Amino acid sequence: MLGMYTSYKCKTCKLEFVLLSEDVAKMAKDRFLACPYCNSKRVTIDKATDSVRECMQESSYRRRNGVIKQIR
Ligand SMILES: [Zn+2]
Repeated sequence: MLGMYTSYKCKTCKLEFVLLSEDVAKMAKDRFLACPYCNSKRVTIDKATDSVRECMQESSYRRRNGVIKQIR
């Protein structure tokens, strides 16, 4: 189940960014996602979350590990 926002991590510059899951679903049909910082296409889904605030506040590693297990 997708959250409202999906978090991505760029494998090239290691920065993370968050996009609306709905928008990604639309755009992903036609093109690949690219990192907004370095324009790399080596982007991985980090986790999906229901709010950006939750995403920002969660202390990263515990949450991320749990979600990665579900995704992979
Ligand atoms: Zn990047």
